[in-house]
Amino acid sequence: MATESFGFQAEISQLLDLIINTFYSNKEIFLRELISNASDALDKIRYASLTDPSVLDSGKELYIRITPDKENRILSIRDTGIGMTKADLVNNLGTIAKSGTKGFMEALSSGADISMIGQFGVGFYSAYLVAERVQFISKHNDDEQYIWESSAGGTFTITADTVNPPLGRGSEVRLYLKEDQAEYLEEKRIKDIVKKHSEFISYPIQLAVVKEVEKEVEDEEMEAEEEKKDESKIEEVDEDEDKAKDKKKKTIKEKQVTNEELNKTKPIWTRNPSDITQEEYSAFYKSLTNDWEDHLAVKHFSVEGQLEFKAILFVPKRAPFDLFESKKKRNNIKLYVRRVFIMDDCEELIPEYLNFIKGIVDSEDLPLNISRETLQQNKILKVIRKNIVKKCMDVFSEIAEDKDNFNKFYEAFGKNIKLGIHEDSQNRSKLAEFLRFYSTKSSEEMTSLKDYITRMPEIQKSIYYLTGESLAAVKESPFLEVLKKKGFEVLLLVDPIDEYAITQLKEFEGKKLVCVSKEGLELEETEEEKQAREEEAKQFSDLCSMMKETLGDKVEKVVVSNRISDSPCVLVTGQFGWSSNMERIMKAQALRDSSMSSYMASKKTLELNPHNAIVRELKRKVAEDKADKSVRDLTYLLFETALLTSGFSLEDPSSFSKRIHRMISLGLDVGEEEESAEPTSAAPPPAAEASTSAMEEID
Ligand code: ADP
Ligand code: MG
Repeated sequence: MATESFGFQAEISQLLDLIINTFYSNKEIFLRELISNASDALDKIRYASLTDPSVLDSGKELYIRITPDKENRILSIRDTGIGMTKADLVNNLGTIAKSGTKGFMEALSSGADISMIGQFGVGFYSAYLVAERVQFISKHNDDEQYIWESSAGGTFTITADTVNPPLGRGSEVRLYLKEDQAEYLEEKRIKDIVKKHSEFISYPIQLAVVKEVEKEVEDEEMEAEEEKKDESKIEEVDEDEDKAKDKKKKTIKEKQVTNEELNKTKPIWTRNPSDITQEEYSAFYKSLTNDWEDHLAVKHFSVEGQLEFKAILFVPKRAPFDLFESKKKRNNIKLYVRRVFIMDDCEELIPEYLNFIKGIVDSEDLPLNISRETLQQNKILKVIRKNIVKKCMDVFSEIAEDKDNFNKFYEAFGKNIKLGIHEDSQNRSKLAEFLRFYSTKSSEEMTSLKDYITRMPEIQKSIYYLTGESLAAVKESPFLEVLKKKGFEVLLLVDPIDEYAITQLKEFEGKKLVCVSKEGLELEETEEEKQAREEEAKQFSDLCSMMKETLGDKVEKVVVSNRISDSPCVLVTGQFGWSSNMERIMKAQALRDSSMSSYMASKKTLELNPHNAIVRELKRKVAEDKADKSVRDLTYLLFETALLTSGFSLEDPSSFSKRIHRMISLGLDVGEEEESAEPTSAAPPPAAEASTSAMEEID
């Protein structure tokens, strides 16, 4: 039969080299990976059989069988799962690139452990930790039986299988073990590994063990056999004295292969939580997720009454490397119906923002043959989902009881909490309890909203926040000036997702969340403060209207500010529009809807600080001479610097720089011609230009 050769996809080839050449002692994990693949394949055929029982015509028994062959140094792992067609073999075992291949190699070079391989979706290749040659024999219902084979080295072959016994359905992985890896043929070793890594696989894992059994045979028959067989293999044993007369019967010892089941424990979720140790939970967690670390928290519960189900939910310690990779299907919560595995990617079980929770749910009420289409409308599933979300909130609260643990949790999954606030209106206020932010009073440690409230001075009514690109960018923001003076703490929101979340949240425990860079900031102020501000507004109204005239459409209006005490001015945005931070984020997103952005883009209000010397001097100039040219130039400069300090970007940086350069020239008392004089050309600038204000030309 013709053998076809294929080249491994380049990164897979690299990965194989790495696996083969890296010194690594914990090689036993290969078995866990192959058993996990076998279990996945069994899941697939079982699921298919729920809607079409005939797929099991090729074999009803679902199992995994490990057979060591010491003579030939071959370890074989067989399953009666779904199998692979020829095309599957080519695609899944070598030619289609997976994001995890590169991801895993990068992780390795930054110190990750080879045993993490399963998490990156390339676990199969761990076979090469122990094998020099691997055969993957597979039979899918839709195709003939094929052999995939490779000794690494960049290529593999596919051959139609005419030599091995038919599998019926499923796969057999044959590992031709390296000379020094024969330990994996020892029964004891295999049993230990299975117990350690694969105890919770929900299909029987059989080990083909060779036992010597006693057998009575007819004398002649035995003699005949004796002639055929090697004598050393069969020993004669004591003859039963009672039967001594019967010369025809003898008892012999014979080697017999029996399939011993290695994982007989009943499903852990069906047991009483108080009987289960943390070690057992952690072993179960690891087998469920391929994680190499223990979980951070676990919730094991059952719901009874009108509806019955049991569940175990785990919170991992870290986010997976591709948590927010778009459109990736996550297999996080396994759905069982009365102990039968149904599927591991049921989107209806848990909302997307909780996609980092792992676990299992076993329902008593769902029909076994539930189809994906009916899942979406299923009422039972909706109730289960609601319960799961509630238990997730409980477990987060439990994690929050320990500060260190919660910090770990928040670092890994804070984004998910914020997404939840955006998406899940029902649990919004509960989720808000888990938010943590830096603030003007604690820039080292983050604070919860609850703690923030305890620090609020009595007069303060709202919770204040400022959004921006980084802590460094917002810490010294002019928007904080008056608030700091008043002793009002301001939360500093520097994660891009913060603003989405917080604008949805709107309030916390009856206190409004107020953005200090937006219009209409009603700072709690005394009667005198209020009156003083109204008075100032009157005094500065001429300056305000003159500046508005100068800036034209660039600003909505110019008003006297109540939030700055040092800086001359700031730019604030409309209450319901984007903040400067949001504008920055939206601009960075390619393909955004431009009609939306013109609608939402910040309408800016320039706020002046009536106590600032520059502003006061400007006011004096305007009162003296409304047509003073320098007022116009300075207005522009103030506007542009306010853009920067308020978190916007400059629309026209070059004219801004020219303005600044002219200011520098003025400061240094150098003439315009000197500043721009080129060393070779002595041509003087036209005299006319030097005399009029060059600043005006720029605008
Ligand atoms: P993962 O299991 O994370 O997908 P692997 O590298 O372990 O990654 O396996 C690659 C793919 O090969 C699997 O996704 C599956 O499609 C296929 N595969 C591996 N082992 C088996 C098996 N025993 N039966 C059927 N398909 C298998
Ligand atoms: Mg796998």
